[in-house]
Amino acid sequence: MSAPSRDTLRRGWCPSTLKPMETGDGWLVRLHPPGACLTPAQLRRIAALAARHGNGLIEISARGNMQLRGVTADSHPELVATLLAERLVDEHEGDGPQRLTLVSPLAQLGCHSGASRSEEPGIHEYDGASGRAGPSGASCIQDGVHGFRAQACGLPRNDGLGDLIDALALAAAIEACGREIAGLPAKFAIVVDGGGESSLDAFAGDLRIVAIAPARVVIALADSLWFGPLPASEAAAVVAQAMARFAVRRARAPDCIRRMGDLAADELAALCDLPVAEAPVARPEPRRAGLFALGDSHAALVGLPFGRAEAAMLDRLAQAAERLGCPEIRLSPWRGLAFRGLSEGDATTLLERAATDGLITRDDDPRLSVQACAGAPACSRAQAPAMADAARLAQVLAPDLAAGLTLHVSGCVKSCARPAASDLTLVGEGGRYRVVIGGSARDSAVATLDLSALLTRLQPGQDLHARLIAAGRLSGPTK
Ligand code: SF4
Repeated sequence: MSAPSRDTLRRGWCPSTLKPMETGDGWLVRLHPPGACLTPAQLRRIAALAARHGNGLIEISARGNMQLRGVTADSHPELVATLLAERLVDEHEGDGPQRLTLVSPLAQLGCHSGASRSEEPGIHEYDGASGRAGPSGASCIQDGVHGFRAQACGLPRNDGLGDLIDALALAAAIEACGREIAGLPAKFAIVVDGGGESSLDAFAGDLRIVAIAPARVVIALADSLWFGPLPASEAAAVVAQAMARFAVRRARAPDCIRRMGDLAADELAALCDLPVAEAPVARPEPRRAGLFALGDSHAALVGLPFGRAEAAMLDRLAQAAERLGCPEIRLSPWRGLAFRGLSEGDATTLLERAATDGLITRDDDPRLSVQACAGAPACSRAQAPAMADAARLAQVLAPDLAAGLTLHVSGCVKSCARPAASDLTLVGEGGRYRVVIGGSARDSAVATLDLSALLTRLQPGQDLHARLIAAGRLSGPTK
């Protein structure tokens, strides 16, 4: 297997298994496990490969993808060959997205329509002709959608989270359709939200499907124009049509149109034939870590601090899950792992095991409110040690983070960890940080400070703390 060309390694590329991205600590290889799901044995295998072919650091991205760091030109070919041979990744050729959909790691397959799961954990591909899980066929845009109807029309089972549709089956149908559409940008994202407690409102998407009643959904384009409502059984067809029309429009100006949000409102409206709808009512933010009851079993949702952990740590956790008989692990967009199919006692035991390694097991952990990229020394573009400084800031700002403050620490202006605005954004510049209040890394700064000055001036009673209160980003002292 030949090494990737310089072109495929250019910065800004959306990395994948076959097309790694060059970073300060070697190549970053992004994995897309089939169905965003692994067994404990597969997680242990990936941890071993990360230690052998990379620098032993594993990340989970905010889109629920896994990344190995520190891979080299020499180690990459064997790593890829092993990942493909052992079916640890679901890689396909081409420049389009490797994975389109984002689904809650706690979503459950509906079970009232006779739909079956593949015998392999994590495989929920959809064969429309049979209406059963299986390899995605070439006619999925037509048949897969009709096949999906059989699943989505059944009442969802009691999954404990109140989902109104089978989000996993819908996502599988959309993935199958999307693979047939050429010209989609690599970062194209579709949020599939079952409408229950595990809200995905916080994640941006080019397209968003939200269940608003049993088996009924609304669809948003670029998170700005809403359409519907429509039966969930028709959602995959509508999404496939919108994707295909977008790809055609994009082909006329690929350098200007990278995402749905680059289209004007009238162009967006032309992508969907449905009537305009109201945006659904926003739901409370979901818990992002801890113990969850899912129908007749439980899940342990574990967060990796700032989305990163050592391979040895994940190996220990996977070993513990294996001993407890955990059947599947889903990758979480809250930058962690959901260990599912456990008894309440076993899920609690696993959370305790994770906590001893410093992983996140409680939803009130301040680190969950902090986004940070790798920073220096891992990234060659970094102008500050973002991840290390984020850990210190999370400690010092814990009360404010618990009160709802959102913090983004970026090693440079590229803002890999979070392109959107946060209450407080710190952008590395020459070893210090530009301080942005209520904006993104590209907005104007109110000051440029080193970490020590930041830690002081963000304390209650100090000027930056007061500015956050004045900007409505923090509540002030009660009088
Ligand atoms: S934002 Fe962070 S990870 Fe991205 S290029 Fe800058 S320093 Fe590197």
